[in-house]
Amino acid sequence: MKVLLTGGSGFIASHCIDVFLQRGHSVVFTVRSAAKGQTALRNYSESSQSKLSYVIVEDIAEPTAFDEAVKSDPPFDVVVHTASPFRLNISDPKELLSPAIIGTTGILKAIKKSAPSVRRVIVTSSFVAMLSPTKHPRRYDGATWNPISPEEAAQNPGNAYRASKTFAERAAWDFMEHEHPNFDLVTINPPVVFGPVAACLNSLNDINTSNARIRNMLRGDFKNGLPGSLGVYLWADVRDVALAHVKAAEVQQAGDKRFLLAANEYMSNADVAGIIVENFPELADKLPAKLESDLPADVYAFDNSESKEILEIEYRTLKDSVVDTVKSLIRAGA
Ligand code: NDP
Repeated sequence: MKVLLTGGSGFIASHCIDVFLQRGHSVVFTVRSAAKGQTALRNYSESSQSKLSYVIVEDIAEPTAFDEAVKSDPPFDVVVHTASPFRLNISDPKELLSPAIIGTTGILKAIKKSAPSVRRVIVTSSFVAMLSPTKHPRRYDGATWNPISPEEAAQNPGNAYRASKTFAERAAWDFMEHEHPNFDLVTINPPVVFGPVAACLNSLNDINTSNARIRNMLRGDFKNGLPGSLGVYLWADVRDVALAHVKAAEVQQAGDKRFLLAANEYMSNADVAGIIVENFPELADKLPAKLESDLPADVYAFDNSESKEILEIEYRTLKDSVVDTVKSLIRAGA
Protein backbone atom coordinates (compact mmCIF):
# COMPACT_ATOMS: atom_id res chain seq x y z
CA MET A 1 0.00 0.00 0.00
CA LYS A 2 0.99 3.59 -0.44
CA VAL A 3 0.02 5.55 2.65
CA LEU A 4 -0.26 9.26 3.42
CA LEU A 5 0.31 9.75 7.16
CA THR A 6 -0.21 13.15 8.78
CA GLY A 7 1.71 14.55 11.77
CA GLY A 8 4.86 12.54 10.97
CA SER A 9 6.91 14.31 13.66
CA GLY A 10 4.60 13.04 16.41
CA PHE A 11 5.03 10.29 19.00
CA ILE A 12 2.31 7.92 17.78
CA ALA A 13 2.98 8.72 14.12
CA SER A 14 6.67 7.83 14.38
CA HIS A 15 5.75 4.36 15.61
CA CYS A 16 3.10 4.04 12.86
CA ILE A 17 5.81 4.80 10.28
CA ASP A 18 8.00 2.05 11.78
CA VAL A 19 5.26 -0.55 11.54
CA PHE A 20 4.09 0.45 8.04
CA LEU A 21 7.70 0.13 6.79
CA GLN A 22 8.28 -3.17 8.62
CA ARG A 23 5.21 -4.56 6.90
CA GLY A 24 6.41 -3.52 3.45
CA HIS A 25 4.25 -0.46 2.79
CA SER A 26 5.36 2.95 1.41
CA VAL A 27 4.73 6.06 3.47
CA VAL A 28 4.59 9.75 2.67
CA PHE A 29 4.30 11.67 5.94
CA THR A 30 3.35 15.29 6.50
CA VAL A 31 5.34 17.67 8.70
CA ARG A 32 5.17 21.41 9.29
CA SER A 33 8.70 22.17 8.02
CA ALA A 34 11.55 20.71 5.97
CA ALA A 35 13.72 20.70 9.11
CA LYS A 36 11.22 18.40 10.88
CA GLY A 37 10.98 16.22 7.78
CA GLN A 38 14.76 15.81 7.54
CA THR A 39 15.05 15.05 11.27
CA ALA A 40 12.41 12.34 11.01
CA LEU A 41 13.97 10.84 7.85
CA ARG A 42 17.40 10.56 9.51
CA ASN A 43 16.02 7.85 11.83
CA TYR A 44 15.55 5.41 9.00
CA SER A 45 18.08 3.29 7.16
CA GLU A 46 18.86 4.07 3.53
CA SER A 47 16.96 0.98 2.40
CA SER A 48 13.79 2.16 4.21
CA GLN A 49 14.17 5.63 2.79
CA SER A 50 13.30 4.42 -0.70
CA LYS A 51 9.81 3.82 0.71
CA LEU A 52 9.63 6.97 2.81
CA SER A 53 9.32 10.68 2.05
CA TYR A 54 7.60 13.76 3.40
CA VAL A 55 5.49 16.67 2.23
CA ILE A 56 5.03 19.92 4.09
CA VAL A 57 1.63 20.85 5.53
CA GLU A 58 2.27 23.87 7.70
CA ASP A 59 -1.00 24.27 9.55
CA ILE A 60 -3.88 21.82 9.49
CA ALA A 61 -6.22 24.54 10.81
CA GLU A 62 -6.17 25.97 7.26
CA PRO A 63 -9.21 24.48 5.47
CA THR A 64 -7.25 23.84 2.24
CA ALA A 65 -4.07 22.63 3.98
CA PHE A 66 -4.24 19.12 2.52
CA ASP A 67 -5.39 19.98 -1.01
CA GLU A 68 -1.98 19.31 -2.60
CA ALA A 69 -0.65 16.73 -0.11
CA VAL A 70 -3.30 14.15 -1.01
CA LYS A 71 -2.21 14.16 -4.69
CA SER A 72 0.57 11.70 -5.51
CA ASP A 73 1.92 9.56 -8.33
CA PRO A 74 1.46 6.62 -7.92
CA PRO A 75 -1.63 7.60 -5.95
CA PHE A 76 -2.37 6.85 -2.30
CA ASP A 77 -4.38 3.80 -1.24
CA VAL A 78 -4.84 4.76 2.40
CA VAL A 79 -4.66 7.94 4.49
CA VAL A 80 -3.86 7.93 8.22
CA HIS A 81 -4.64 11.20 9.99
CA THR A 82 -2.84 11.43 13.34
CA ALA A 83 -2.01 15.17 13.37
CA SER A 84 -3.88 17.10 16.05
CA PRO A 85 -2.57 19.22 18.91
CA PHE A 86 -2.28 17.33 22.21
CA ARG A 87 -1.08 19.91 24.71
CA LEU A 88 -2.72 21.81 27.51
CA ASN A 89 -0.67 25.05 27.54
CA ILE A 90 -3.22 27.08 25.58
CA SER A 91 -4.67 30.54 26.01
CA ASP A 92 -7.75 29.93 23.84
CA PRO A 93 -9.70 26.65 23.30
CA LYS A 94 -9.64 27.39 19.55
CA GLU A 95 -5.92 26.55 19.54
CA LEU A 96 -7.00 22.92 19.99
CA LEU A 97 -10.48 22.92 18.46
CA SER A 98 -9.64 24.50 15.10
CA PRO A 99 -6.74 22.25 14.02
CA ALA A 100 -8.57 19.16 15.28
CA ILE A 101 -11.90 19.84 13.57
CA ILE A 102 -10.77 21.73 10.47
CA GLY A 103 -7.81 19.36 10.05
CA THR A 104 -10.11 16.33 10.03
CA THR A 105 -12.81 17.76 7.76
CA GLY A 106 -10.18 19.39 5.55
CA ILE A 107 -8.37 16.15 4.81
CA LEU A 108 -11.60 14.25 4.14
CA LYS A 109 -12.78 16.93 1.71
CA ALA A 110 -9.40 17.01 -0.05
CA ILE A 111 -9.38 13.21 -0.47
CA LYS A 112 -12.92 13.17 -1.85
CA LYS A 113 -12.06 15.94 -4.30
CA SER A 114 -8.59 14.97 -5.48
CA ALA A 115 -7.62 11.43 -4.41
CA PRO A 116 -10.18 8.97 -5.82
CA SER A 117 -7.83 6.00 -5.34
CA VAL A 118 -7.97 6.25 -1.53
CA ARG A 119 -10.10 3.37 -0.28
CA ARG A 120 -9.77 3.88 3.48
CA VAL A 121 -9.09 6.72 5.91
CA ILE A 122 -7.94 6.02 9.46
CA VAL A 123 -8.33 8.83 11.98
CA THR A 124 -6.51 8.79 15.32
CA SER A 125 -9.30 9.78 17.64
CA SER A 126 -9.08 9.15 21.38
CA PHE A 127 -10.70 7.48 24.36
CA VAL A 128 -11.54 11.04 25.45
CA ALA A 129 -14.05 11.12 22.57
CA MET A 130 -15.82 8.34 24.51
CA LEU A 131 -15.15 9.43 28.10
CA SER A 132 -17.74 11.03 30.40
CA PRO A 133 -15.45 12.00 33.30
CA THR A 134 -18.25 13.17 35.61
CA LYS A 135 -20.71 10.34 34.89
CA HIS A 136 -19.07 7.18 33.60
CA PRO A 137 -21.28 4.63 31.89
CA ARG A 138 -21.11 1.11 33.34
CA ARG A 139 -19.09 0.07 30.30
CA TYR A 140 -17.15 1.83 27.55
CA ASP A 141 -17.12 0.38 24.05
CA GLY A 142 -17.03 1.43 20.41
CA ALA A 143 -20.52 2.94 20.65
CA THR A 144 -19.85 5.25 23.63
CA TRP A 145 -19.60 9.01 23.02
CA ASN A 146 -18.40 11.85 25.23
CA PRO A 147 -21.44 14.14 25.69
CA ILE A 148 -19.31 17.30 26.10
CA SER A 149 -20.90 20.57 24.91
CA PRO A 150 -19.28 23.61 23.25
CA GLU A 151 -19.86 25.56 26.49
CA GLU A 152 -18.00 22.93 28.53
CA ALA A 153 -15.22 22.95 25.93
CA ALA A 154 -14.52 26.58 26.83
CA GLN A 155 -14.16 25.92 30.57
CA ASN A 156 -10.55 24.73 30.83
CA PRO A 157 -7.74 23.30 28.64
CA GLY A 158 -8.52 19.67 29.59
CA ASN A 159 -12.11 20.11 28.43
CA ALA A 160 -10.91 21.89 25.27
CA TYR A 161 -8.71 18.89 24.40
CA ARG A 162 -11.46 16.37 25.11
CA ALA A 163 -13.90 18.43 23.03
CA SER A 164 -11.40 18.82 20.19
CA LYS A 165 -11.16 15.06 19.81
CA THR A 166 -14.90 14.48 20.27
CA PHE A 167 -16.02 17.17 17.82
CA ALA A 168 -13.37 16.20 15.25
CA GLU A 169 -14.38 12.55 15.33
CA ARG A 170 -18.08 13.43 15.15
CA ALA A 171 -17.32 15.63 12.14
CA ALA A 172 -15.57 12.71 10.45
CA TRP A 173 -18.52 10.32 10.89
CA ASP A 174 -20.94 13.11 9.83
CA PHE A 175 -18.88 13.62 6.69
CA MET A 176 -19.20 9.93 5.88
CA GLU A 177 -22.94 10.01 6.40
CA HIS A 178 -23.60 13.08 4.29
CA GLU A 179 -20.89 12.99 1.61
CA HIS A 180 -20.82 9.26 0.73
CA PRO A 181 -17.18 9.27 -0.42
CA ASN A 182 -15.44 6.34 -2.19
CA PHE A 183 -13.46 5.50 0.95
CA ASP A 184 -14.55 4.07 4.28
CA LEU A 185 -13.50 5.34 7.71
CA VAL A 186 -11.90 3.72 10.75
CA THR A 187 -11.21 5.51 14.02
CA ILE A 188 -8.67 4.37 16.57
CA ASN A 189 -9.55 5.56 20.09
CA PRO A 190 -6.67 5.00 22.51
CA PRO A 191 -6.57 6.17 26.14
CA VAL A 192 -3.27 7.32 27.72
CA VAL A 193 -0.48 6.09 25.46
CA PHE A 194 2.90 5.16 26.96
CA GLY A 195 5.91 3.69 25.20
CA PRO A 196 9.39 4.38 23.89
CA VAL A 197 9.81 8.05 23.03
CA ALA A 198 10.21 8.97 19.38
CA ALA A 199 13.77 8.56 18.13
CA CYS A 200 13.54 12.04 16.59
CA LEU A 201 12.82 13.71 19.96
CA ASN A 202 15.16 16.72 20.22
CA SER A 203 14.82 17.35 23.92
CA LEU A 204 12.97 15.92 26.90
CA ASN A 205 11.27 19.34 27.12
CA ASP A 206 9.52 18.49 23.83
CA ILE A 207 8.17 15.16 25.05
CA ASN A 208 4.62 14.30 24.03
CA THR A 209 1.92 14.94 26.64
CA SER A 210 1.11 11.33 27.65
CA ASN A 211 4.74 10.29 28.28
CA ALA A 212 5.33 13.56 30.16
CA ARG A 213 3.86 12.04 33.32
CA ILE A 214 6.55 9.31 33.34
CA ARG A 215 9.28 11.88 32.58
CA ASN A 216 7.93 13.97 35.47
CA MET A 217 8.04 10.96 37.78
CA LEU A 218 11.71 10.36 36.86
CA ARG A 219 12.49 14.06 37.50
CA GLY A 220 11.08 13.87 41.04
CA ASP A 221 8.24 16.31 40.28
CA PHE A 222 5.75 14.10 42.17
CA LYS A 223 8.04 13.20 45.09
CA ASN A 224 5.51 14.71 47.51
CA GLY A 225 2.44 13.13 45.96
CA LEU A 226 1.25 11.69 42.67
CA PRO A 227 -1.44 13.53 40.70
CA GLY A 228 -4.87 11.85 40.51
CA SER A 229 -5.77 9.73 37.49
CA LEU A 230 -8.79 12.00 36.69
CA GLY A 231 -11.06 9.14 35.70
CA VAL A 232 -8.76 7.74 33.02
CA TYR A 233 -7.70 4.29 34.20
CA LEU A 234 -7.13 2.87 30.72
CA TRP A 235 -3.91 3.02 28.73
CA ALA A 236 -2.17 1.39 25.75
CA ASP A 237 1.40 0.93 24.56
CA VAL A 238 2.33 3.02 21.54
CA ARG A 239 3.63 -0.04 19.64
CA ASP A 240 0.21 -1.70 19.99
CA VAL A 241 -1.48 1.57 18.98
CA ALA A 242 0.76 1.80 15.91
CA LEU A 243 0.08 -1.82 14.92
CA ALA A 244 -3.65 -1.11 15.28
CA HIS A 245 -3.37 1.76 12.77
CA VAL A 246 -1.56 -0.48 10.30
CA LYS A 247 -3.96 -3.39 10.75
CA ALA A 248 -6.84 -0.96 10.35
CA ALA A 249 -5.37 -0.15 6.94
CA GLU A 250 -4.82 -3.79 5.99
CA VAL A 251 -7.89 -5.63 7.29
CA GLN A 252 -11.00 -5.30 5.16
CA GLN A 253 -13.37 -6.03 8.08
CA ALA A 254 -12.06 -3.02 10.03
CA GLY A 255 -13.98 -0.62 7.75
CA ASP A 256 -16.61 1.66 9.34
CA LYS A 257 -15.49 0.72 12.85
CA ARG A 258 -14.53 2.70 15.92
CA PHE A 259 -11.93 0.82 17.96
CA LEU A 260 -11.46 1.29 21.70
CA LEU A 261 -7.75 0.54 21.76
CA ALA A 262 -7.08 -0.13 25.44
CA ALA A 263 -4.72 -2.65 27.04
CA ASN A 264 -6.23 -5.41 29.17
CA GLU A 265 -5.14 -4.02 32.56
CA TYR A 266 -6.38 -0.91 34.34
CA MET A 267 -3.74 1.50 35.60
CA SER A 268 -3.31 4.28 38.11
CA ASN A 269 -0.35 6.59 38.54
CA ALA A 270 0.57 4.58 41.64
CA ASP A 271 0.77 1.41 39.52
CA VAL A 272 3.10 3.18 37.08
CA ALA A 273 5.27 4.51 39.91
CA GLY A 274 5.33 1.09 41.58
CA ILE A 275 6.67 -0.50 38.38
CA ILE A 276 9.40 2.15 38.19
CA VAL A 277 10.46 1.59 41.82
CA GLU A 278 10.48 -2.18 41.41
CA ASN A 279 12.47 -2.21 38.17
CA PHE A 280 14.68 0.85 38.64
CA PRO A 281 15.39 0.91 42.41
CA GLU A 282 17.95 3.68 41.86
CA LEU A 283 15.00 5.97 40.96
CA ALA A 284 12.98 5.19 44.11
CA ASP A 285 14.02 8.44 45.81
CA LYS A 286 12.33 10.44 43.03
CA LEU A 287 8.93 9.01 43.97
CA PRO A 288 6.74 9.09 47.08
CA ALA A 289 7.69 6.44 49.68
CA LYS A 290 4.07 5.33 49.98
CA LEU A 291 2.14 4.63 46.77
CA GLU A 292 -1.63 4.40 46.96
CA SER A 293 -3.73 3.55 43.92
CA ASP A 294 -6.77 5.76 43.28
CA LEU A 295 -8.41 3.10 41.08
CA PRO A 296 -12.02 2.91 42.36
CA ALA A 297 -13.34 -0.51 43.42
CA ASP A 298 -16.36 0.02 41.16
CA VAL A 299 -14.33 1.20 38.17
CA TYR A 300 -16.17 1.13 34.83
CA ALA A 301 -15.90 -1.90 32.53
CA PHE A 302 -14.53 -1.60 28.99
CA ASP A 303 -14.71 -3.70 25.84
CA ASN A 304 -11.57 -3.96 23.72
CA SER A 305 -12.64 -7.23 22.10
CA GLU A 306 -12.96 -5.87 18.54
CA SER A 307 -9.36 -4.65 18.66
CA LYS A 308 -8.28 -8.17 19.59
CA GLU A 309 -10.56 -10.03 17.21
CA ILE A 310 -10.45 -7.83 14.11
CA LEU A 311 -7.08 -6.07 14.45
CA GLU A 312 -5.47 -9.06 16.26
CA ILE A 313 -3.80 -6.86 18.87
CA GLU A 314 -2.12 -8.83 21.66
CA TYR A 315 -1.69 -6.11 24.23
CA ARG A 316 1.55 -5.53 26.07
CA THR A 317 1.50 -5.48 29.85
CA LEU A 318 1.76 -2.25 31.84
CA LYS A 319 5.03 -3.51 33.28
CA ASP A 320 6.64 -4.03 29.86
CA SER A 321 5.36 -0.70 28.59
CA VAL A 322 6.53 1.33 31.58
CA VAL A 323 9.93 -0.40 31.72
CA ASP A 324 10.54 0.23 28.01
CA THR A 325 9.36 3.84 28.34
CA VAL A 326 11.72 4.48 31.26
CA LYS A 327 14.65 2.88 29.40
CA SER A 328 13.97 5.13 26.39
CA LEU A 329 13.74 8.20 28.62
CA ILE A 330 17.06 7.34 30.26
CA ARG A 331 18.62 6.94 26.80
CA ALA A 332 17.17 10.36 25.89
CA GLY A 333 18.88 11.93 28.91
CA ALA A 334 16.35 11.66 31.77
P1 NDP B 1 2.33 14.56 19.39
O1 NDP B 1 2.22 15.90 20.02
O2 NDP B 1 3.61 13.82 19.52
O3 NDP B 1 1.93 14.64 17.86
C1 NDP B 1 1.00 15.54 17.37
C2 NDP B 1 1.31 15.80 15.91
O4 NDP B 1 0.33 16.70 15.36
C3 NDP B 1 2.68 16.46 15.69
O5 NDP B 1 3.28 15.92 14.55
C4 NDP B 1 2.30 17.91 15.47
O6 NDP B 1 3.25 18.64 14.71
C5 NDP B 1 1.02 17.77 14.68
N1 NDP B 1 0.21 18.99 14.75
C6 NDP B 1 -0.41 19.52 15.83
N2 NDP B 1 -1.01 20.69 15.49
C7 NDP B 1 -0.77 20.89 14.17
C8 NDP B 1 -1.12 21.91 13.24
N3 NDP B 1 -1.88 22.96 13.61
N4 NDP B 1 -0.67 21.80 11.97
C9 NDP B 1 0.09 20.74 11.58
N5 NDP B 1 0.45 19.74 12.41
C10 NDP B 1 0.02 19.82 13.69
O7 NDP B 1 1.13 13.73 20.03
P2 NDP B 1 0.73 12.20 19.97
O8 NDP B 1 1.60 11.44 19.05
O9 NDP B 1 0.58 11.76 21.36
O10 NDP B 1 -0.73 12.33 19.34
C11 NDP B 1 -1.01 11.97 18.01
C12 NDP B 1 -2.51 11.80 17.89
O11 NDP B 1 -2.97 10.81 18.81
C13 NDP B 1 -3.31 13.06 18.19
O12 NDP B 1 -4.41 13.08 17.32
C14 NDP B 1 -3.79 12.82 19.63
O13 NDP B 1 -4.96 13.53 19.93
C15 NDP B 1 -4.04 11.32 19.59
N6 NDP B 1 -4.03 10.65 20.86
C16 NDP B 1 -2.91 10.65 21.66
C17 NDP B 1 -2.92 9.97 22.87
C18 NDP B 1 -1.73 9.92 23.76
O14 NDP B 1 -1.88 9.52 24.94
N7 NDP B 1 -0.54 10.27 23.30
C19 NDP B 1 -4.13 9.26 23.33
C20 NDP B 1 -5.23 9.30 22.40
C21 NDP B 1 -5.17 9.96 21.22
P3 NDP B 1 4.41 19.49 15.48
O15 NDP B 1 5.19 18.50 16.28
O16 NDP B 1 5.17 20.11 14.38
O17 NDP B 1 3.66 20.47 16.34
